[in-house]
Parts: sequence; C-alpha cells; structure tokens
Amino acid sequence: MTTVWVLGDQLTRRGPVSRALDGDADRVLMVESRAFAARHPYHGQKLALVFSAMRHFRDRLREDGVTVRYERADTFREGLDAFFDDHPEESLVAMRPAGGGADALRDLVQDAGGRVEFVANESFLCSPAAFREWDDGGQSHEDFYRWMRRRTGYLMDDGDPLGGEWNYDEQNRETPPDDYEFPDPARFPPDDTTERVLDEVRAEYDAWGAVEVFGWPVTRDDALDALDDFCEHRLADFGTYQDAVVAGEWALNHSLLSPALNLGLLHPAEVIERAIDEYDARADVPLHSLEGFVRQILGWREFMRQVYLREDGLADANQLDHSRDLPDFYWTGDTDMACLRESIAHVREHGYAHHIERLMLQSNFALTFGVDPAELTSWFHAAYVDAYHWVTTPNVVGMGVYGTDAFTTKPYAASANYINRMSDHCAGCPYDPDATTGEDACPFNALYWDFLAEHEDRLRHNYRMAGLYHHVDTKRGDELDAIRERADDVRALADAGDL
Ligand code: SF4
Repeated sequence: MTTVWVLGDQLTRRGPVSRALDGDADRVLMVESRAFAARHPYHGQKLALVFSAMRHFRDRLREDGVTVRYERADTFREGLDAFFDDHPEESLVAMRPAGGGADALRDLVQDAGGRVEFVANESFLCSPAAFREWDDGGQSHEDFYRWMRRRTGYLMDDGDPLGGEWNYDEQNRETPPDDYEFPDPARFPPDDTTERVLDEVRAEYDAWGAVEVFGWPVTRDDALDALDDFCEHRLADFGTYQDAVVAGEWALNHSLLSPALNLGLLHPAEVIERAIDEYDARADVPLHSLEGFVRQILGWREFMRQVYLREDGLADANQLDHSRDLPDFYWTGDTDMACLRESIAHVREHGYAHHIERLMLQSNFALTFGVDPAELTSWFHAAYVDAYHWVTTPNVVGMGVYGTDAFTTKPYAASANYINRMSDHCAGCPYDPDATTGEDACPFNALYWDFLAEHEDRLRHNYRMAGLYHHVDTKRGDELDAIRERADDVRALADAGDL
C-alpha cells in the first residue's frame, strides 16, 4: 500500500494528500528534522512557522480521519528509518520538491530501504514541463508574464490585456502623503501549538531574530483570513505605494501572503482570483493595484521558480567576482545608516521586509560593497520567513547582486538619490544623502560610483547602463579618486563595525 509523504512546504490538500483523504492511501508521513533546521542560524519565527504549520496540518488531517505518522527526528534519514522499520512493505508517494532535489530524496528513501514515487507539484501555476516547452532559454520575465496572462486568462479582455496595458507600474511608484495611515495587517497570535513550538525553538535552536512577536498564519483558515484582510483593507492602495519605504512601517500595504503561499497553505490561483473578485466588486480598487499584485504572484514568483530549475549553478554564480564578507550589521542591525538599520530591524523583528527594502537597500548595499553573492543569499535564506532556495537564490543572486545575467539585463545599483526619493529615512540619518565624499557622506554614494568604476569594462557597453558612464566620465580624475578612497573607507568602517 501507499503512504503519502508530505514535505514541510507542501501543506496542501491538493495532490497526493487528496488520496489519503479519499481513503486511497494508508496514511500520511511527515518528518521534522532537527539537523535540517539547525543547518543555518534561521530566524526563530521561520522555524516556528514551518513546524507549527506542519503540526496544525497534521492535526487537521487527523480530525478528518487520516492516519498521520509524524516523526520528530534528528535527521530525515532517521525519520525515514523509523517509518520503514514499522512499515517495510510500504511505498511512498510525494509531490516533487518545489526547488528540485527529488533525486537526493529518492536516494535517502532507498538508503532507508524504501521506495518513493514523485508526482507533479501542485502548488504552482506553471509546471516545469510547460515552461520548458515554451522557453527558448532566454525569455524575459515580461515575456513569461504575458504568456501566463494569456494561458490563465487572468486580467485579459477578449485576448487583450485588461485596460489596454500589460503593466501599470508608472502609477505604482508614489510615496504616501505625511498623513497617510497604513492599515494594520491581520496578525495571528500564537495558539497552544505555536506556543509549544516557540518554546522548543527557544530551547533547542541557536536561532536568530525575535520570536516574541510571532503573528504569521499557521493554518489554512488563518491564511484565508489573511487573504481576505489584505483584499478588503490594503489591496486598493497596494500598488500606488508598493515601492515606498516609510520609517516606522514594516508592512505598508503589502499582502504578507508569501509565507503562506510558499508553505502551500494558499494556492496562487485562489489568491489571484480572490483579488480579482475584490476588484470586480468595488469601484475603489484601481486596476494598477490589482495588476501590480497579480504580476508579483502570476509573473515574478512563478518565473523565479522556473529560472531556478532551469539554471545550473545559480547558487554559486558570481560573474562580478565579488568576494567580500557580509558586514556584521546584517546580523546585528548595528549601523548608523538609518535606512539599513530600520530595514534590518524589520527582518529581525518579523523575518520580513518588503521587496524594495530587500532589493534597493539590503541587496543594493551588498552589491556595491562587493559581497560574495552566496553569503548574501545565505543571509536571506536564514533570515526571511518566506525564503526557500527556489525563490531566494534567483532573487538575490540574479536580481539583487547581478551574480548572473541569465535573466537580468543590468545590476540594480543605486545611490542615496534613489533612496531619498523613495523613502523618508534620509531626513533622520546622520549621513548626508547629498554628499559623496567626507566623513558624513552617505555610504551608498561612494560605493555606487566606485562600483560603476570598478566594473566599467563589463557595464559600460550595457545599453541600460551606458548613460551612467557619461557621469562617471565627468568625475574622472581627482574627484573619482577621492570617491573611490571614500568607498575604501566605507568598507573598512563596515568591517570594523563602525559604519
Ligand atoms: S543618507 Fe544614506 S544611509 Fe542615510 S538613510 Fe539616506 S540613503 Fe540611507
């Protein structure tokens, strides 16, 4: 007979679990591996989220009459050994892991004396087979997104994009007025199960970050409530302020649904369709907000997974040959740079910061500082509650620090000019966003020009970067020398913990 093996990020009743619910499989197997959870200094909330969601998933299945074998073991291998000792004739069926790696899991099962059949992962809208058939190896995200819109019919109007445009980002770059109040997002206080898990995390793991303020959805019901809350209270203004960075605000109007999506508690189709229903029912939800939200889920999230599965060696890609260590303040938060200090505080407190904080603060600084892409990726992977290899690696290595040009056409490097325009942090920062050299000059500025100068051979002829080199040329000579000296000082200060 068959046992359904449910991995920790496959907490969905679609796929093989439906067989167990229908009585077509003996039982469900779930394994919590302590060694796996101790491999990185994970955020305590990330560990608690995964373990609590797994245990709630187990409990709901049991309530519905499914037999669940739940192993808490030191390693996956030990958990599998214990299972096959008791059920030597049983074979496993499991959904393919989201980020690949089925062969390694198959070996693990075979070493434990068992067999496993992998079937399609049903937590995404695009299968690897469909992507391979469509992709010529060099398709852009925009190509993918339009293809997905046509395939699914989402935001389409008789073959054309709804409203006439594929993308309304021009309207999605506003900063909120001073008196704008962001609605509080739905939070889910820990129940007894989550409290027990939090106690275990405190006692058993050398975890990073705060665990006191845990509020993530750990059940499907909570996740559906979070989806409703977002659509009812924050979707309307989501797009308008989606790129803003605001002091004192960690969530803004972002959906905060990625942790639940990436665990399988929500399916991307139901998230998109719920948002479309809200748009259809209300006159005050603008199309640019809806489209921006749908693009994140239908476009970018799915594209990142396919790129991760397509590109070999992405985890080690380092085309700029950057090798510096990640500054300690990514872990401690101890920096005078107001924008980075607060964005890292968001991660410490919640295991989360929104996409512009990730890209234009944390990644931008690491890119221009020259951090080894793999080190930054490890930090994101450990620190963010929604981070899994298939999503973190391409986002950080490709988009964040231009370790590969497999799917990005330019590095996302920026000076304080951009940060000052999109955030209100600079006004309260001891550094001067308008200065490039001198002790008080914003570190982003010297690092930015230094980065352009350092990688001129590669970037000058990039059509999306060429215009910037006109500015580099105007600084060439003493000015550029002084800027590069300031960049060296910035790196030394960061390494000494004095930035
Ligand atoms: S001055 Fe520089 S370091 Fe300070 S908040 Fe602005 S961009 Fe960030």
